Amino acid sequence: KAKDAGRNTYRFYSPEMQAMSDERMLMDKAMHDAIDNKEFELYFQPQNSFDGSCIGAEVLIRWPRVDGSFTPPGVFIPLAEEIGLITGIGDWVMEESFRQLSIWIKEGFWQSHWKLSINVSAIQFQQAEFLVALEMLLTKYALSAKLIDLEITESMLLGDLTVSRKKMNKIRELGVFLSIDDFGTGYSSLKYLKTLPINRLKIDQSFVRDLLIDSSDAAIIAAIIAMAKALDIEVIAEGVETEEHYCELQHMGCDRFQGYYFGRPMPAVEFVKNFSVTSDPTKYI
Ligand code: C2E
Ligand code: MG
Ligand code: MG
Ligand code: MG
Repeated sequence: KAKDAGRNTYRFYSPEMQAMSDERMLMDKAMHDAIDNKEFELYFQPQNSFDGSCIGAEVLIRWPRVDGSFTPPGVFIPLAEEIGLITGIGDWVMEESFRQLSIWIKEGFWQSHWKLSINVSAIQFQQAEFLVALEMLLTKYALSAKLIDLEITESMLLGDLTVSRKKMNKIRELGVFLSIDDFGTGYSSLKYLKTLPINRLKIDQSFVRDLLIDSSDAAIIAAIIAMAKALDIEVIAEGVETEEHYCELQHMGCDRFQGYYFGRPMPAVEFVKNFSVTSDPTKYI
């Protein structure tokens, strides 16, 4: 500890740095407690086809605070990755997602052509046990692999590419789908797309946000769509917030969408309420 080394060492830390590390230590403790006390929840956000119908959901973790707000995953997930808690959290997300999906199948809610997309941290993906854990969960919950989509990021490619490629191939052999999340923001070289068994690119929401006012964002999206089509990879646009986004993306040849325009992330109960497919045709009139 800096304190043990004597007062003089304090000058190496600015007050801002000290406050930052205090906050991180508090968060570290709070996250350990959150795992032990099962404080995390899963929310589900719809993914939609060209015509707007539901084609599945992305699972997004939520960590409620006592006041009813949430600690954003964009804040605590990177920290969990740094301090080695992400595999514990990631394992929980996987198991809980599989459990929920198996319930939805039994209830007849989940449609056989829908996929459940689960975010997998690069660190979790790179664990030697990841593949075995995935297979065990598929067996335990008696799930068809084709219902599962794993969202990985380009940072996964920073590790040993040969190892990652082998693992991805085995995942595909199981029948599980693979998506690259936040596509266009990372380090991936386009040649990886040719050699890796990727099923879907998720166009990052930062390109979608200003699509209608920034022609370079529009150009990047058009390029991603054209490349994906040529390589026979699916595309989905993230951050589709308005009808204008939806129409413009449709016009550009994008055929899958996710965003507030179609639905915000919501608890499982609400997801069922909003996206039940009814056999009653009057519902659509
Ligand atoms: P992501 O995987 O790219 O997830 C999409 C994020 O965009 C989510 O933020 C979602 O709520 C948000 N979003 C969806 N539609 C819209 C929209 O129309 N407009 C805007 N502005 N935002 C939209 P969220 O839930 O805060 O998650 C942030 C990130 O945290 C995720 O980005 C993902 O990287 C990470 N994350 C969330 N849950 C998990 C998890 O279970 N495991 C792991 N490893 N990471 C997770
Ligand atoms: Mg994602
Ligand atoms: Mg994303
Ligand atoms: Mg993201």
